[in-house]
Amino acid sequence: MLNELFMYTFTVIIAGVLSLFLCFYAQFRLKDAPGVRPYILVALFSAFFTFSYAFELASPSLERIKFWLNIEYLAMPFIPVFILLMCFEYVGQKLKPYLYYILFVIPIITIFMHETNGLHHLYYTSMGLNSDSPFPILKVEHGAWFYVHSIFLFLCLMISIITLLMKLKKAKFRFRMQIILMVSGIVMPIIANYFYLNGLSPYGIDLGPISMSISFIFHGAALLFYQMFNVTPIARDSVFESMKDGVLVLNQNGVIVDFNHAMLDVIPNLKSQVIGKSIVDGYGQLADIIRLEAELDYELCLDEEKTYYHIRFSTVRNKNNKIIGKIITFVNVTERVLLQEQLKNLASMDGLTEVYSRNFFMQESEKMMESLSMTWGKVSVIMFDIDHFKNVNDSFGHEAGDRVLAHVAGLAKESLRSTDIIGRYGGEEFILLLPDTPLIAAYELAQSIRVKITESVTPFMNQEIHVTSSFGVSSAQIMEGDHSQTLKNLMREADQALYGAKRKGRNYVELFEQAFEYSS
Ligand code: GH3
Ligand code: MG
Ligand code: MG
Repeated sequence: MLNELFMYTFTVIIAGVLSLFLCFYAQFRLKDAPGVRPYILVALFSAFFTFSYAFELASPSLERIKFWLNIEYLAMPFIPVFILLMCFEYVGQKLKPYLYYILFVIPIITIFMHETNGLHHLYYTSMGLNSDSPFPILKVEHGAWFYVHSIFLFLCLMISIITLLMKLKKAKFRFRMQIILMVSGIVMPIIANYFYLNGLSPYGIDLGPISMSISFIFHGAALLFYQMFNVTPIARDSVFESMKDGVLVLNQNGVIVDFNHAMLDVIPNLKSQVIGKSIVDGYGQLADIIRLEAELDYELCLDEEKTYYHIRFSTVRNKNNKIIGKIITFVNVTERVLLQEQLKNLASMDGLTEVYSRNFFMQESEKMMESLSMTWGKVSVIMFDIDHFKNVNDSFGHEAGDRVLAHVAGLAKESLRSTDIIGRYGGEEFILLLPDTPLIAAYELAQSIRVKITESVTPFMNQEIHVTSSFGVSSAQIMEGDHSQTLKNLMREADQALYGAKRKGRNYVELFEQAFEYSS
């Protein structure tokens, strides 16, 4: 007998502890999420109700049982109302303010009826102890108001279930799991009540509080494993999903709490399973960007197609201004970035020959000289100029001249290494900067370009145009000091050598030293 009593009381206490735990968990961890406030009240009132019921079970006399019953009834009638409000808030269903008050009318009357039952017997027509139970258990005949209360309770729970189920079809996987768990939790007290009211519960024990423990196991699972309340509620889900910008939501610990469909374009392997996992695990460069909150254009290369996303960060704060998470927005800015690149190209490239413009060549050369300053290596400059180019224009026309310029520039470009740079210095004059290249190697390169130009022809209107070029080469050791001056000197020397090459009869490569000797 005592064993049985112990078992029932123990189960009820477990239910109380569980609801209290979930109440605190929700209060401290999820406080500001939609639907949480009514949930906290459900859990708190359930804990109050369940603990009082444990005392009722352990009561030795009818008087004591009645006492604890009255205590239970201070909390119990509100529970279905809070469940209903929780479900409404969860799906984003707004109620007119007066409806909130109306919902509390019946529970308040119930409490009143219950506490004053001795005067009117509208709640219980009779109260006594069950004679065949192993420990004192209340045996009652129900009055009219009890049925009003029961129907109200049943309606609240049914409307809650219907409200949730209506969202089930459209919801995403994790919301579905939340909804299923929430619905299962609400169904429990209905089943328990059915058993109790039909006299099917053992010794007529009220199964309500025990069913509560099972309910709270479902709620606990929804809370802890499927982040119930911790993610955007369903009501906001559709807006979130239809956004064309990718949105990633992290909590304050960098754990992924949510992402929308557009986010799959940015991280194609995102799955609902990553919810609850840290962003640091396995997202490489993106994880660093997110950690540093670097607002930048993120380049993504998928199937050889480049897409650019501008990444923006905003913090999510609760009412007390405490940071509770981070929203990261990925805006597709590919069009803007490509346009910028085109504009930059326009400024940096020579449209006809597709080599650097003079200004851009100078900028790049200065940068390169700066970066070479650590190596103490040799750097060389080649300048070359097409011989008698004026004649080409005169004989074949300006368009043909343009064709030759592009062709010659192409021949020079294909001879370069990846670190070399080439620019159009003037009309038909080009300049090359060769890092880590001694004079002799630069001379050989110039020779090879010269030979290529000599041997190649530019086809133009069924004709073939032959040109030659003259080259001036200079070289210097990179030293600490004024790199800009070194560059200027190199260019002046190469130009001087080029002049020498022209003087020597053209189609010739002249080195600066020789040019120097020659002119001095
Ligand atoms: P040299 O062997 O001494 O270099 O003789 P040159 O005729 O090449 O020298 P000059 O500097 O007298 O002539 C260069 C000519 O290049 C003059 C100009 O009309 C032509 N030119 C400059 N830029 C362009 C261009 O973009 N397109 C065309 N078709 N011709 C150009
Ligand atoms: Mg020329
Ligand atoms: Mg010239």
